[in-house]
Amino acid sequence: MEKILNYINGELVPPASDMWLDNYNPAEGKVYNLIPDSDEKDIEKAVAAAKKAFPAWSELPTSERSDILLKIAEGIDREFESLAKAESDDNGKPLKLAKAVDIPRASSNIRFFATAILHFDSQAHQTDQQAINYTTRTPLGVVGCISPWNLPLYLFTWKIAPALAAGCTVVAKPSELTPMTAYLFSKICKEAGLPNGVLNVVHGLGGKAGQAIIEHPEVIAISFTGGTTTGKKIAATAAPMFKKLSLELGGKNPNIIFADADFDEAVSTSIHSSFSNQGEICLCGSRILVERSVYDRFVEEFVNRTRKLVVGDPTEEKTRVGALVSEAHMNKVLSYIELAKKEGGKVVTGGERVIVKGRCNAGYFVAPTIILGLDQQCRTNQEEIFGPVVTIMPFDKEEEVIEFANGTAYGLSATIWTENLKRAHRVAHQLKCGIVWVNCWLLRDLRTPFGGMKQSGVGREGGWEALRFFTEQKNICIKL
Ligand code: NDP
Repeated sequence: MEKILNYINGELVPPASDMWLDNYNPAEGKVYNLIPDSDEKDIEKAVAAAKKAFPAWSELPTSERSDILLKIAEGIDREFESLAKAESDDNGKPLKLAKAVDIPRASSNIRFFATAILHFDSQAHQTDQQAINYTTRTPLGVVGCISPWNLPLYLFTWKIAPALAAGCTVVAKPSELTPMTAYLFSKICKEAGLPNGVLNVVHGLGGKAGQAIIEHPEVIAISFTGGTTTGKKIAATAAPMFKKLSLELGGKNPNIIFADADFDEAVSTSIHSSFSNQGEICLCGSRILVERSVYDRFVEEFVNRTRKLVVGDPTEEKTRVGALVSEAHMNKVLSYIELAKKEGGKVVTGGERVIVKGRCNAGYFVAPTIILGLDQQCRTNQEEIFGPVVTIMPFDKEEEVIEFANGTAYGLSATIWTENLKRAHRVAHQLKCGIVWVNCWLLRDLRTPFGGMKQSGVGREGGWEALRFFTEQKNICIKL
């Protein structure tokens, strides 16, 4: 069986312990390769390599760093088919989605930061006739990047691209559940001529390899995307060590539909924002709030359209909903559906595991599920389920829906559907979250800051924010 290897100091190597973990294809429910069960010894080697590579990489002219990163982006484009297949095999997502979103966006992430760094500048301030201050920005050093399984290569590159562009060297750990694209990416980096040790990819368990990165004293900043519970643990370890932290965490995002919305567009996009990637996107709108006068019409149309979504083999063109990432995650999602029923919710469609005929008959599929009749405070409406499960609730007034929308511990994103421009601005300003989409969903401009409020995270990524995160400022004040 194929063995995925770590990428340390420019070499593809087995873990020091020679211990391996099973990597499942969740659509088949079968192990299809093995991944390193790395530990602190591997992290030690990776950090040493990153430390050794830092002086030369950080001092390389920016244009040369940029050229190497652009070659890596070209490598992603060249390996498009194999990366998309690996993304789908590892995660269970439809191949069509991996081709449309994950891999193109991974390539865009690298291109964006490869070129953004060419325009990154610092500031100067004159203090009357007394002094001139100028501020320098220098790369931090060795940084840790830890990414989740839902959009594996997309989020992996989202973290490492600004770090590398800024001149840092990186020790990265992709999710143990979806290691394949990061492995293929290591090979692309080698081919593109990335100097040894600049990027090190160590595979393994979060609590072991991941924790060793967080605890390592030479890793001075951590960029993490994952669940809020893991984020708390990471913060508890890193904060007393005064590490710089960027945490992109979970969400329980409201999708607000006013009666004056463009009804057809609101329904069509809500299908995507509810069930794309099996609902395993931190930005999915899992709480749909609909103004009462259009509630019945919305529910009827939304349920009809949801029933038509094809759940099945991710490689088939017609499939819209693939497998959940693991058996454990499928069981978690199913347990939330049971909880919703206990809380008085009515499942109007879905609600159960789907057995797909043929090659995927042991896969972890769950039917897109819609639940009505729950109140705002119940656990189903408060906790992140991270699967193809949405609730729909009616509301009467604007103030009420703002209160509902803000009424969870999370604050990642929100969507508003209305044709009333003033209301769109008014409501958007009152929502406590990092991104608000008006009459759209998942449109991204990489120049904008990205991140959550409350328990959805700390710090902002994207655009200049990410380059600022990976650099340190120093002010030099000269008396005139
Ligand atoms: P987890 O928090 O379980 O894991 C994220 C990563 O952290 C994985 O690589 C994991 O490794 C690793 N990890 C786990 N424990 C530790 C530890 N103690 N120290 C260091 N690393 C650790 O998240 P999921 O992978 O389950 O991803 C889903 C979550 O990510 C959802 O909550 C989702 O909302 C959130 N997310 C947020 C986004 C955002 O931008 N705000 C975007 C996408 C997802 P391993 O897998 O081996 O356990």
